[in-house]
Amino acid sequence: MKKTDLLIIGAGPAGCSAAIYAVRAGLKTIIAGGAMPGGQLLQTNDIENYAGFVNPVGGYELMDNMLKQCKRLGVEITTDQIVKLSGTKTPFTATAAGGETYEATAVVIATGASARWLGAPGEDKLRGHGVSACATCDGFFFKGKNVVVVGGGNTAFEDALFLSKICPSVTLVHRREGFRADAVTVEKVKNTPNIKMKLNCVVDEVLGDGKVTGARLKNVQTGAIEEIACDGIFVAVGAVPQTGWLKDSPVELDGAGLVKVNYKQATNIDGIFAAGDCTEPEFRQASIAAGTGAKAGISAAAFVNLHK
Ligand SMILES: Cc1cc2nc3c(=O)[nH]c(=O)nc-3n(C[C@H](O)[C@H](O)[C@H](O)COP(=O)(O)OP(=O)(O)OC[C@H]3O[C@@H](n4cnc5c(N)ncnc54)[C@H](O)[C@@H]3O)c2cc1C
Repeated sequence: MKKTDLLIIGAGPAGCSAAIYAVRAGLKTIIAGGAMPGGQLLQTNDIENYAGFVNPVGGYELMDNMLKQCKRLGVEITTDQIVKLSGTKTPFTATAAGGETYEATAVVIATGASARWLGAPGEDKLRGHGVSACATCDGFFFKGKNVVVVGGGNTAFEDALFLSKICPSVTLVHRREGFRADAVTVEKVKNTPNIKMKLNCVVDEVLGDGKVTGARLKNVQTGAIEEIACDGIFVAVGAVPQTGWLKDSPVELDGAGLVKVNYKQATNIDGIFAAGDCTEPEFRQASIAAGTGAKAGISAAAFVNLHK
């Protein structure tokens, strides 16, 4: 069993940032980073909206730097995938898939989220070549191009509005006629001349060889098929928080599976904190994950110093 002041579960921007604050506050800090130390940013090439970089920084480079920064400061990083977190008061026990166990005075959960995809043929091979799950991240690379947004919630509608400012035409594809998005946002979209809607439609296939050239749409009511030309497809049908492993733990999740936290990133269990995309219903961005990670690290350090 490994004993530590703080165990951070997850090695994305939230986990790394929490670790930097905790280790600099004097805590023995271990990150169990699972199968993907570095997190979701490893899946992207150019990041242009993380402050501090004049030119776009690669996702791998940014996360490699964060992990190296953690190590330089004395954080131990493992690739253990945590499958169980037990205890309703400090110290807590975490068990990894390989059998390793950790005993920690405090815990930060930073296991992130993964985008929900459509599952349409062509989508997988064209991810990163015109298929994206993040308009805020990748929209700028489609300036002057025609794009499709898929979804019927606030994210899809906000994405369509955002893209309509830089793209000549945006087609919003939604499988129903009703929307989950706020009425005000729906009205804005309806009043934007370069956004058109294809309702009762699903993307039947993403078209393109090496890069996206179009989408084949299927009307779910009539079965009619239509092909539209486009350069990018933004999938905005939600994200899945990586919190399934917490289902038998005492940590409270909301209906969507997000870890419930207060403004100090504290969960319902005193001494267990959470940060980043696994807590975030809307603003899934690296700088926000790093910011909430910093709060979790500071809160965890205060907790450990009280309980040492
Ligand atoms: C393709 C793509 C492009 C993006 N581009 C941008 C961009 O340009 N700008 C931007 O700001 N944001 C971007 N994002 C969003 C950004 O990546 C996320 O908001 C951010 O990574 C969230 O950080 P996180 O630390 O909360 O979680 P993640 O980055 O998801 O990291 C989660 C970590 O938890 C680990 N983990 C999961 N489960 C377990 C477990 N049970 N035990 C141990 N470890 C576990 C994983 O291995 C990983 O290390 C992009 C996302 C994607 C997918």
